[in-house]
Amino acid sequence: MSIPIDIPVQDKNFGFIIDNRKCIGCHACSTACKSENEVPLGVYRTWVKYVEAGFFPDTRRYFQVTRCNHCANPPCVRICPTEAMYQRADGIVEFDSNVCIGCKACMQACPYDAIYIDPESHTAAKCHYCAHRTDIGLEPACVVVCPEHAIIAGDINDPHSEISRILARNQVTVRKPEQGTAPKLFYIEGNAIALHPTATERTPETFLWADVLPLHETGHRRNGEGATRRGGDAPARHSNGTPIRTPQTQGQPWNGPIQFGAKMAEQMVQVSYNAQHKIPWHWPVPAYLVTKGIGAGLFMLLSLGLGLNLFPADGLTNVVAGFLALLFIGITTGLLVYDLDRPERFLYILLRPQWKSWLARGAVLLIGFTVVGGLWWLFELGGYLFSYDNPPLRALFLWVGLPFAVGAAVYTAFLFAQAEGRDLWQSPLLPFHLVVQAFMAGSGAMLVVDLFIATPAELTRVTGIVFVTAVLIDLFVTLVGEFSIPHASEIAARAAHAISHGHYKNHFWYGSIGLGHVVPLAALLLGWMVGGTAVLGALAGLAAIVGLYLYEYAFVMAPQEIQNS
Ligand code: SF4
Repeated sequence: MSIPIDIPVQDKNFGFIIDNRKCIGCHACSTACKSENEVPLGVYRTWVKYVEAGFFPDTRRYFQVTRCNHCANPPCVRICPTEAMYQRADGIVEFDSNVCIGCKACMQACPYDAIYIDPESHTAAKCHYCAHRTDIGLEPACVVVCPEHAIIAGDINDPHSEISRILARNQVTVRKPEQGTAPKLFYIEGNAIALHPTATERTPETFLWADVLPLHETGHRRNGEGATRRGGDAPARHSNGTPIRTPQTQGQPWNGPIQFGAKMAEQMVQVSYNAQHKIPWHWPVPAYLVTKGIGAGLFMLLSLGLGLNLFPADGLTNVVAGFLALLFIGITTGLLVYDLDRPERFLYILLRPQWKSWLARGAVLLIGFTVVGGLWWLFELGGYLFSYDNPPLRALFLWVGLPFAVGAAVYTAFLFAQAEGRDLWQSPLLPFHLVVQAFMAGSGAMLVVDLFIATPAELTRVTGIVFVTAVLIDLFVTLVGEFSIPHASEIAARAAHAISHGHYKNHFWYGSIGLGHVVPLAALLLGWMVGGTAVLGALAGLAAIVGLYLYEYAFVMAPQEIQNS
């Protein structure tokens, strides 16, 4: 078979069919892909997932060739800040490693684990439909090598193509249709267990061709998860004596993958072969959320307070607080660059932006904030050193800078919303939550400043009110809004459960709720009872900031641990 090259490119729409009736799990496709595209060891553009299901002796192994779906509505393209990931007119989702900055946002956006960072080029890569072959009329290498013709590639817009004729005659399924990405890789006799990544526990010992990186030291069977329950504890009883099951967490399976009737089917389903995917974002991302909150929050507090005449302008306070706001926004930018796998390409975000990406928009907001905030700070520094003042000019700087500060605080909510592979981050509360966190972190930092310089009494009073209000609202939003209301998907529920009751429960309860909320409120209450001391205020501010980091760490890490393939 060949790919017709005389059809206008915009009239084509390439897709794949995987015919599971024919696949024998030989891995020829994976190997041919490696060879054709010179894919390094330890990463994969396509792989064959094996899932075994059934009760012995009635067991069966299912194969699933897994790769990029060349989605019609690809979130990886939308989030890419430099157009390194792009959709060709013929429907192929292609990448350009020459302009990739290694931000890994596309890996967060893909709900299918299709993208990896190439260990040699340090840029994103994935199945690209062997576009270099397709363009000259050749089929992708995996199609040619398959001994069973189980992989069919072609133009699904052409009613006469083999793929269109097979699609017309057969019932097909896709992975995660609920994501709205419109995958164009169709499975004939797709197996529900293989298609649904969380139908089985993550089993690192079965990962294929890779060094296995355990998620946590205790492995995947942590906290008793997955422990065999047969013959275990006697069931609880209803008041009428009937043995009952405890109502389980919404969106969570019953302590194991599948249950038939009253019988646990713990060993019923297992992944016996798969490919491991590394977690793309680590500590720099939660750290950047906190430093961004401090910088933006300090500026929001000062601009609103001075703009609304809630406290008087004080030269030294403005110089110190303004410097800290700029310093923390600078650290934020530094963390962003540090986290890139190609940091020397950072300026590509500005030189060749893809404006639908909230990474590109966020970079503009951070720069805008730095420019306006920097001009304001120079104005304040000059006033402090040379004893001049110009209230209208100050007001202009602060009111112009306010939208940039709010934007800098909040844009990550929209970036996380574009990360469609992480359902928990899709929270509609997140924009509001980030503003509250910025006020909490900014006013907390101001309480620390208060320990070192004599700020106006009105500013101290307003800061205290803002801080307490923000801590209380944040506590309510965190406990009730983000973690008590049922989640929209099983994936989001699993991540939330890992934060509130699983691996991250100490970060959440001791770190965020205890250190980040209870300790600051208790310190301020004590300060109020003993007549107020700056030390207790600074302690409250510091505790809130450290607690915020621990919360953000859990919030960033837990969703990335839910497998997408
Ligand atoms: Fe491929 Fe994932 Fe992008 Fe879809 S979202 S086109 S599966 S990389």
